[in-house]
Amino acid sequence: MLHDCRHCVSKLLALRCNAPVSNQEAIHIMPLAASRLRIALRAIAEASAIARHVQASTHQIRRMTKDDYSPVTVADYAVQAHIALRLQEEFGTVPLVGEESAKDLLANNSGVLRDAVVEAVQRAWPGLNSNDALRAIDLGEHDASGDAYWTLDPIDGTKGFLRGGQYAISLAYIERGTVLLGVLGCPNLGRDFSRAFDQPDPTGTLFYAARGAGAYALPASQPEANPEPIRIADGRSVSEMRICESVEAAHSRQDATREIADYLKTRGAPARLDSQCKYAVVARGQADAYLRFPTSADYVEKIWDHAAGSIVAEEAGAKVTDIDGLPLDFGRGSTLQANRGIACAAPHLHALLLAAKATLFG
Ligand code: AMP
Ligand code: MG
Repeated sequence: MLHDCRHCVSKLLALRCNAPVSNQEAIHIMPLAASRLRIALRAIAEASAIARHVQASTHQIRRMTKDDYSPVTVADYAVQAHIALRLQEEFGTVPLVGEESAKDLLANNSGVLRDAVVEAVQRAWPGLNSNDALRAIDLGEHDASGDAYWTLDPIDGTKGFLRGGQYAISLAYIERGTVLLGVLGCPNLGRDFSRAFDQPDPTGTLFYAARGAGAYALPASQPEANPEPIRIADGRSVSEMRICESVEAAHSRQDATREIADYLKTRGAPARLDSQCKYAVVARGQADAYLRFPTSADYVEKIWDHAAGSIVAEEAGAKVTDIDGLPLDFGRGSTLQANRGIACAAPHLHALLLAAKATLFG
């Protein structure tokens, strides 16, 4: 298995770089783990292009509000259909826990959105009829039970997507409650750390991590390029610490982040960006912490909002827990029901952040 064999996974990554691997070593490489990574990277790179295309043609975005009042767009449905079809093509039946369901699209007043989704899916799958394109969305209806499944958030940070800011396409593979593989497509996040988060990059970045094998980044348009290892920032002091958080005040208590930063005498305001791109910016050392404070006692975090991002940050050296210091528990179905909020940071800063939280808020 992936997490039991660091050697094999490292070689798997080496193979992607076309480094020479002897026959003896090749025997160790698990074909299934290798093909999971290869297919996930390809699917996310293609999906990033689909999302980019939809975002560029504003008439196609076609926003709708779901039953829980969250927004959803053509891109959310088209990306879920595309990734489900790619996984199915490679692996046959796919246990996929996806955020979206086609049922909202079948409502009488959703015809325009439905047609735009079918058109976006058919751009990548020209032979597919419209019913099959819609059915592909529901390949993501697996119920997060069983030993192993994929989880997908086709457009994480839909509000960022609609604003032209950051969003992420997030795919992870979970086995017996442990995230083993995570791929994040961040189509608007480039290599340049000095670019503002609300200024979309023309290329975007893919981030991925396999348990025990490190975290990597590569250009979103080149899933076959040499991956670049990423690491959290080394030893930045608490006063220099850069914290990131949600743009949406409804998703995380920004007053709590501010109080903690003031208590720790951290200079500089928190950086705000949408989606799991927050995990990626911590993973590559651009920020030092990602805090997510629950705004209500009722809200439970979803696995697809954290599975891929958390493994990318952990494999880059970050510590990821909830705000009470508990490990994220991915073994309880589609939600993180044993957890409250998120604290992701370099280990020495994570300890200080949690101590400050305990002093200020219990
Ligand atoms: P972010 O871009 O970090 O603000 O997170 C976007 C995610 O927040 C979406 O994918 C939603 O699943 C999730 N979300 C929706 N409502 C809430 C809420 N009340 N508290 C926390 N997260 C939420
Ligand atoms: Mg999401």
